[in-house]
Amino acid sequence: MTAIPFLDLKAQYASYQGEVWEYIRNIAESQQFVLGNHGKALETEMAAYLGVPACAGVSSGTDALILALAAAGIGAGDEVITTSYSFFATASAILRVGARPKFVDIELETYNLDPAKVEKAVTKKTKAVMPVHLYGHPADMGALGAIARRHKLKVIEDAAQSIGADIAGKKTGALGLMAGFSFFPTKNLGGWGDGGLVACSSEKHADHIRRLRNHGMFPQYVYPEVGINGRLDEIQAAVLRVKLKHLESWIEGRREVARRYRHYFEQAGIDSRIGLPVERPGCRHVWHQYVIRLRKNRDALKQYLADAGIGSMIYYPQPLHTQKCLKGLGYRAGSLPNAEKAAKTTLALPIYPEITPLAQQQVVDAIAAWLGR
Ligand SMILES: *Cc1c(COP(=O)(O)O)cnc(C)c1O
Repeated sequence: MTAIPFLDLKAQYASYQGEVWEYIRNIAESQQFVLGNHGKALETEMAAYLGVPACAGVSSGTDALILALAAAGIGAGDEVITTSYSFFATASAILRVGARPKFVDIELETYNLDPAKVEKAVTKKTKAVMPVHLYGHPADMGALGAIARRHKLKVIEDAAQSIGADIAGKKTGALGLMAGFSFFPTKNLGGWGDGGLVACSSEKHADHIRRLRNHGMFPQYVYPEVGINGRLDEIQAAVLRVKLKHLESWIEGRREVARRYRHYFEQAGIDSRIGLPVERPGCRHVWHQYVIRLRKNRDALKQYLADAGIGSMIYYPQPLHTQKCLKGLGYRAGSLPNAEKAAKTTLALPIYPEITPLAQQQVVDAIAAWLGR
């Protein structure tokens, strides 16, 4: 049996690399590396793809979230409601603008913010809610939007894992005031290095982000406010423009892989013994990760799969509210039981458009063998 890697980006490279090299040669010849035509074109093409008025390319998903929060006017003394079961940048971006993350527990079915618990967490200081569309499944934006309207909260989406996901045809990134996307190489639309983008509900916000990503400068060498160096470079933008044309077919590939996993788990008769991921009615899941939940011994299964040459990953082994550097926020272990349970029991299986049905069958067979051992 050949090894099954957790992620195989090389399998994708062949399908798009030709066009990229032509762009990169042009960039090298023009010597225009930062803030040029590819960056502008990517912003226009992404706005059309997402169905938003405007976008601003930035240097990473983390900077996208920081700049979106800053442009929304979130800062010192403000609280931002978010999830503890996410990548660290979700919380660090809030802290970086001087605000305080208020962690709310998740729904175990989708691993996303539980709207019922969000409403209870709103205080006078709450200015925004930052849902994460974790693993590529949209958060419950209908319910969250209603709460935000009732309490006049701004909605900033962390869409780093959900490019192309939608609710009733409306894409994540188009469901709030602004949204942060990441083009980290392992994301569903990944560059050849770091990159990110802020999707905006108005041209005005996009212009603000474009100033903030360039030290707040406007006009040249005049600084009405303090920004950062958060620009997207031309080589990344060119790679992303080429890959964006393939994104829909890659998403359909991932959806097919997810359907096959479910089918194989059902055929093996073990679908009721592990928590399989779901797609809620009306939602389009883009399967950034295929995450199962074990009743017990998750770490032992991970080791068993590794011994069989099968890659898997734990996202995320420790929720944010118990991280040492966030101790000052005053959370204790036990305060967010679903986030803590997910951190202890979930395992991400290999998923990418190019994984073969045979490899998927081997993954499921190995899990069945482990359960029956
Ligand atoms: C990847 C990711 C980010 C950060 O993106 P970078 O491009 O790595 O800075 C933020 N939030 C979530 C949920 C992510 O998965």
